[in-house]
Amino acid sequence: MKDATLALHLGYEKDKEKAMQVPIFMSTAFEYENTDHAARLFNLEEKGNIYTRIANPTTRVFEKRIAALERGIDALATSSGMAAVFYSIANLVGRGDNIIIAEKLYGGSITLSTQTLKQFGIKAKFFDSKRAENLEELIDEKTKLILFESISNPALAVADFEKITEIANKHKIITVCDNTLATPYSVKPIEFGVDIVVHSASKYIVGNGSAIGGCIIESPFAKEKLKTKRYPQFNTPDESYHGLIYNEKFDNPFIERARLALLRDYGAVISPFNAWLLLLGLETLHLRIKAHSQNAMKIVEFLSKHQKIKKINYPFLKSDENYELAKKYLKYAGGIISFELGSYEEAKEFVSKLKIFSLVTNIADSKSLVTHPASTTHQQLSKEELLNAGVPEGLIRLSIGLEDADDLINDLRQAL
Ligand SMILES: *Cc1c(COP(=O)(O)O)cnc(C)c1O
Repeated sequence: MKDATLALHLGYEKDKEKAMQVPIFMSTAFEYENTDHAARLFNLEEKGNIYTRIANPTTRVFEKRIAALERGIDALATSSGMAAVFYSIANLVGRGDNIIIAEKLYGGSITLSTQTLKQFGIKAKFFDSKRAENLEELIDEKTKLILFESISNPALAVADFEKITEIANKHKIITVCDNTLATPYSVKPIEFGVDIVVHSASKYIVGNGSAIGGCIIESPFAKEKLKTKRYPQFNTPDESYHGLIYNEKFDNPFIERARLALLRDYGAVISPFNAWLLLLGLETLHLRIKAHSQNAMKIVEFLSKHQKIKKINYPFLKSDENYELAKKYLKYAGGIISFELGSYEEAKEFVSKLKIFSLVTNIADSKSLVTHPASTTHQQLSKEELLNAGVPEGLIRLSIGLEDADDLINDLRQAL
């Protein structure tokens, strides 16, 4: 079956009530048939519901659908996108290890990698995901993963998947790709050799800014790399599970370990209600990502003719430095655009005049949003630091929603 059909049907079998929509199992725990049954579940001899921190039937349907859309073999939902990024890293590293991350990355993933993980004795090194020139030199025997975004937030850098995975495969290192901005309808990183995909489901997946959530997807070939001595935690007994060896027991060792060890102990589980909202989002994701992208392209065309605009960043704009990579890998460029508008003051004034766009530090809502990074998210940086971060003081970021494009253009025109 094709994606749109899978997104609406996969993984749900109606019970005797015949509910058309997946029921929300708001239940902390699930009853065992008897003590033998309970023992079998706890010993992983049999699959079944135990406790919602480990798994939940509503959440499980979402996990199966997002895994299928990304061409993975299994998925794990988490309470947020950051929890998904953290678990994918924590599943692979130990004290003294290092990770290689893209320079252009979501701010939270950068602070996690460079600040918080440093406290656990893990070091982060940087590479350019567009060119991957220095990537191979950065790899050593303590390197456990390469993290990058398909389209980076907020810089909109497009990754060169094939170049990155070729180097990673040569050294048998796990690649982790954050596919939040592209969605599986624009690109499926696993088809280009990526081992693990993560999402902030709070963005296009839920689609209307109503819930926080995340997910991790495992490719069919991650296991091959996890068998090497780079990843001992998958090949040696886990004492917390009576000596379980993940690679021996499972075909999906990455997800099973993330669930059985990390979710069990760190506990960033998604609410079944939020998982259900993500299921609703998946039902229309294929229509929405197309509509966001079409609206964004119309706005890019308007902005590129306006004399007040200095520079526009959008991967499908011919003059954009990501254009070649975007055309090679992406079906849709999504709804995020950034552009430069003169000085700090001019940018601030422009934002205050907008009526339909809301000033919000979020993206991928059904409603259009605007941010001025220099006065908000990047406020603490000096003029020079702003330039180094690729955030000039007059930079504006738009997240184009699903309103009528003509209304959005009129709003931008009057504010300019
Ligand atoms: C928002 C975002 C995250 C973090 O997700 P939350 O759901 O807010 O925790 C991670 N990666 C990218 C690319 C994002 O845009």
